[in-house]
Amino acid sequence: MNDQAKKKQINAIKGTKDILPDEIWKWQKLETEARLVFERYGYREIRTPVFEATELFIKGTGSTTDIVTKEMYTFVDKGGRSITLRPEYTPSVVRSIIENRLNLQPQPLRFYFIGPMFRYDKPQKGRYRQFHQIDIEVFGEKDPAIDAEIVEMAKNLLTRMGVTDTDVLVNSVGCQTCRPGYREKLKQKAEESRSRLCPDCQRKIGTNPLRIFDCKVEACKEISIEFPKITDFLCPECDEHFKQFCKYLDAFDISYSIEPSLVRGLDYYTKTTFEFSSRSLGAQDAVLGGGRYDDMMKEFGGPDICGTGFAVGVERLLSIVSVEENQQEWLYLIYLGDEAKSAAMEVARFLRENGVKCLVEYRERSLRNQLSRANKLNAAWVLIIGEDEVKKGTFQLKNMKTAHQDTVTKEEILKHIRRTN
Ligand SMILES: [Zn+2]
Ligand SMILES: [Zn+2]
Repeated sequence: MNDQAKKKQINAIKGTKDILPDEIWKWQKLETEARLVFERYGYREIRTPVFEATELFIKGTGSTTDIVTKEMYTFVDKGGRSITLRPEYTPSVVRSIIENRLNLQPQPLRFYFIGPMFRYDKPQKGRYRQFHQIDIEVFGEKDPAIDAEIVEMAKNLLTRMGVTDTDVLVNSVGCQTCRPGYREKLKQKAEESRSRLCPDCQRKIGTNPLRIFDCKVEACKEISIEFPKITDFLCPECDEHFKQFCKYLDAFDISYSIEPSLVRGLDYYTKTTFEFSSRSLGAQDAVLGGGRYDDMMKEFGGPDICGTGFAVGVERLLSIVSVEENQQEWLYLIYLGDEAKSAAMEVARFLRENGVKCLVEYRERSLRNQLSRANKLNAAWVLIIGEDEVKKGTFQLKNMKTAHQDTVTKEEILKHIRRTN
């Protein structure tokens, strides 16, 4: 490497982003709330590898979806295997259930998951190649009550994050019995309007006409309003399931509207679909989406177990949350002289053991400089330890907000500061 190459600054990969200490508290808050809410409903965390064999995702999302055709982060590893960074979570969890025979455990299985996903998408504002999702999945529960329960759980999480301006949209996408007939009708109708659809949608007529409803082009949206609605084509079983789902939403006192164009892009969805949209998000307004995928496990070569779940885009949700940072009170230790330094380290150990967050900095500074440093770092308390204090075993404790100062022993410090355990 020549000198110039050595000096060249290396930046993060395009489409990726650092999450810096000043913003991480929002992430931590969301993760903490998600864990708390999900575990109250009996969900358990599962973590799977970030990369998998490419064919897992081709199988899982259906080879006609955009994710597979355009957006997978795929590469060949040193062993010549085609590897893909997971573009979504469900295929991995299904693989894990089958591989670890979790399906032999009493059902339903309830899982949640928090982690990064990868899509080789054109980087644009608010969209990243590494983005993050929170997912929940239930396997082995047919009852539409569970679909309503996960909607209620989603609402609970959003509320705890201060997101209350949401609309709940619901729909049913039918099943293998009723959807093919609908798809044909839709195809015919779309064919009639072919020339007015965007090139992408024209392609979808032949491959997956339901996905025309996902198109963001205004003209396509207008045309698709006239298309037949899937809710008019549901078989008796799907129709009953959807009615029950709505009835249970009422029981949970959740207001919702039925949105026939909510078909979700992925091939494996069956029956229930739902979405939370937020008025703060503007055009791309879904903050959380989910639905039922009763045939997926079977299609993966696994047992015939139905599934339902939802996913939250973390970046998108965090862009609209209104929560306050809950800063823990902490103490900055000021010491003057060598003897006081050792004493400060000892006091810090004692305080930390007792749940007090405190900071000692190992650089010679004057009292004034240390005070201004504590102020800059936003310390709630300062403890001053000088040679005198070491001899007496008492210290000066200063409240930085009120500037009030007390002489205290180290045990007495604990009475002043709010502690964590
Ligand atoms: Zn059906
Ligand atoms: Zn279109």
